[in-house]
Amino acid sequence: MTDGPSYGFDTLQIHAGARPDPATGARQVPIYQTTAYVFRDAEHAAALFNLQEVGYIYSRLTNPTVAALQERIATLEGGVGAVCCSSGHAAQIMALFPLMTPGCNVVASTRLYGGTVTQFSQTIKRFGWSAKFVDFDDLDALKAAIDDDTRAVFCEAIANPGGYITDLRAVADVADAAGVPLIVDNTSATPYLCRPIEHGATLVVHSTTKYLTGNGTVTGGCVVDSGTFDWSASNKFPSLSAPEPAYHGLRFHETFGPLAYTFHGIAIGLRDLGMTMNPQAAHYTLMGIETLSLRMDRHVENAVKIAKWLEADPRIDFVTYAGLESSPYFDRVKTVCPKGAGALFTFAVKGGYEACMKLVDSLEIFSHVANLGDTRSLIIHSASTTHRQLTPEQQKAAGAAPNVVRVSIGIEDADDLIADLDQALARATA
Ligand SMILES: *Cc1c(COP(=O)(O)O)cnc(C)c1O
Repeated sequence: MTDGPSYGFDTLQIHAGARPDPATGARQVPIYQTTAYVFRDAEHAAALFNLQEVGYIYSRLTNPTVAALQERIATLEGGVGAVCCSSGHAAQIMALFPLMTPGCNVVASTRLYGGTVTQFSQTIKRFGWSAKFVDFDDLDALKAAIDDDTRAVFCEAIANPGGYITDLRAVADVADAAGVPLIVDNTSATPYLCRPIEHGATLVVHSTTKYLTGNGTVTGGCVVDSGTFDWSASNKFPSLSAPEPAYHGLRFHETFGPLAYTFHGIAIGLRDLGMTMNPQAAHYTLMGIETLSLRMDRHVENAVKIAKWLEADPRIDFVTYAGLESSPYFDRVKTVCPKGAGALFTFAVKGGYEACMKLVDSLEIFSHVANLGDTRSLIIHSASTTHRQLTPEQQKAAGAAPNVVRVSIGIEDADDLIADLDQALARATA
């Protein structure tokens, strides 16, 4: 398919990045299950290694099945390029890697996936990087946290697990004024519900493990570049603007322009960090994305029905779904994600920690798993699992207090899900 900016989302989710296979005419993107690619001749090989010609060398760097997925996600997000990797967490490291050096920091929202809080507050210290966590609703605090060593601002569009919606435009303006890129984790929203680049994001990261694949089969991640950031405007981003010794002094930004960040992600990031997505995983995710909009519409429809039912139930203290009029973020849905607030939210059960544990054990359709964005409905008690490593203050800030469970509403019959919650709540609060 030729790139047509006029194509709608439903067309692009099926066709972007996919062309009939030039060798066989195969209509579906083949799984190129190969490690290496034969060079046309010695000169071709030398040009590829010198980044003078783009082509396939070795599957740690590039693979045609993975490349199709990269192009599809970049197109759906409105970016110029994307790099897929082995998981969402790998994508986050890959996203920061070209920006950071020892001593640098990332200013991150307090409302993040629990694993990201741990990765940013603990593990990245081993690289000499650090993170400062601030409430992104407090724009003055955000401004104050950005210092001379800040190289990125990081948040989620719809924050897991609390259903919090970030005012992306306001945050992007602060990052812009400070001359640092805004990275948005768009996992919970997906490009169908929210396109962060349209709200000023520089980079978008995904755990493709979740809604993009959609059925809980493979882990994967992706970093999408808007192509709009001027990496040479300051001396803050030497990996992209200064001569690269590993490629004979080539300057990525000068040489590749808007594709500098994407090329760096492949030529340095995947080459040396090796967090590569395999072609089987790319295949499953390509299959999933074909039905993304259909699934997301149903996820949202079910989530609204179930959140409303829970909110009206006397056994429930509160529901944090931004799609409810009672949510302080209800108005932000209209500007940030007008097609819906996703299908991920938390609710507090009267009876606290013990009742939550009993609820999780009593459900029959909902699965108790540490995952989200599956066709199946999922539930987890975050305080005893994914957010266990956090302090009680961090748990509360992340929307994962002990009396709260998180649900990822699937695409089953909403009435069946409500009946399941009803019987389990009866047992949990008996
Ligand atoms: C799951 C998740 C991640 C991490 O992704 P993995 O594929 O599990 O490594 C990051 N951010 C969010 C919002 C997630 O839901």
